[in-house]
Amino acid sequence: MRVYLDNNATTIVDPQVKLAMEPFFCQMYGNPNSLHSFGSETHPYLKLAMEKIYAGINAPKEDSVIITSCATESNNWVFKSIYFEYILSGRKDHIIVSEVEHPSVIAAAKHLESLGVKVTYLPINEEGLIDVQTVKDSITPKTALVSVMWVNNETGAIFPVEEIAQVCQEHGALFHTDAVQAVGKLPINVQSFPVDYMTFSAHKFHGPKGVGALYMRKGKELSPLFHGGSQMGGYRSGTLNVPGIVGMGKAMEQAVDSLDFEMHDVKELRDLLEDELLKIKDTFVVTPRHKRVSNTILVSFRGIEGEAMLWDLNQAGIAASTGSACASEDLESNPVMEAIGAAEDLAHTAIRFSLSRYTTREEIEYTIGVVKKAVERLRGISSSYAYVPKSLQEAK
Ligand code: PLP
Repeated sequence: MRVYLDNNATTIVDPQVKLAMEPFFCQMYGNPNSLHSFGSETHPYLKLAMEKIYAGINAPKEDSVIITSCATESNNWVFKSIYFEYILSGRKDHIIVSEVEHPSVIAAAKHLESLGVKVTYLPINEEGLIDVQTVKDSITPKTALVSVMWVNNETGAIFPVEEIAQVCQEHGALFHTDAVQAVGKLPINVQSFPVDYMTFSAHKFHGPKGVGALYMRKGKELSPLFHGGSQMGGYRSGTLNVPGIVGMGKAMEQAVDSLDFEMHDVKELRDLLEDELLKIKDTFVVTPRHKRVSNTILVSFRGIEGEAMLWDLNQAGIAASTGSACASEDLESNPVMEAIGAAEDLAHTAIRFSLSRYTTREEIEYTIGVVKKAVERLRGISSSYAYVPKSLQEAK
């Protein structure tokens, strides 16, 4: 059996999405900017797709949704634009990010730091959560941007972005949220809180790879990352990725339609997996269930290197992850485990299981069996587990 439980890294393309995209490869392949019919015949499809994307995040027409190549581009763009618009002009000199942001935010912040920008990295608590007070304590009149992800990709923890956005508004700072892991898992309504920029990516919600977006509230500033043509209102030049945009539109529509299923049925399977895994002694989950999205578990089996567990799972056809979605080849400990200051013997033990609406009960039951066997085998040969005092080994 092959079981895919790495949906926070990427997801299967919904067959309806693939179907919607197909005509735009060999039939309607014109450049939308061309004046002939090959170009213009794509316009109604692009318009419809954009309407679906706007509807999916409840963005009013006057706000902007700019299509990019991925969330990495969208995130980088926000930071570079802030640098050009606010820092270089001397208006502001400070930004705030959480220390568990995706590398596309952390690395962008560090780049600005190398250019002289003051950067505050917000800590997370022992539950992997962010306290709004930390934002209140670090924000100043010179803060240009606060960037806090909506949902953490490792733990699934939901961060208090609505409250943080309010704090930013009160202090005259802009607020960006990386909503990559939130779209399709939580209701998204940009009109319900003062978010200025929001980024997301189609391949995380059963759309195609290579297409992302940057939402920007009306009246906010954005300096173009690419200069060239007039596409996307001149904000992002480059021939439009028609199949990608159509695919993202369809994927957004499907995500909205499936939200209830995602929040209840997927959660039921996730909870089943979690309940069974927690029956294994010396097993820990960092973030409480009710403070997480419905599809994610980051679980630690004391005494077992995450990579070793991944190996056993992979041998049994099960795909999971040990770290950031983009960093499974390196042997560093999980960034969230590091950020919460997990003890040395737990820092390298985290395994992330992330489900989707395509995950079945049969797959979860199979996974439970495989994990239980793997834990037994790996603890049997683990030198670090052997050193755990007997009293601890017996404690649940
Ligand atoms: N932000 C988060 C929270 C992510 O999980 C990811 C991908 O893992 C990204 C950004 C980057 O997305 P993309 O693959 O579209 O560049």
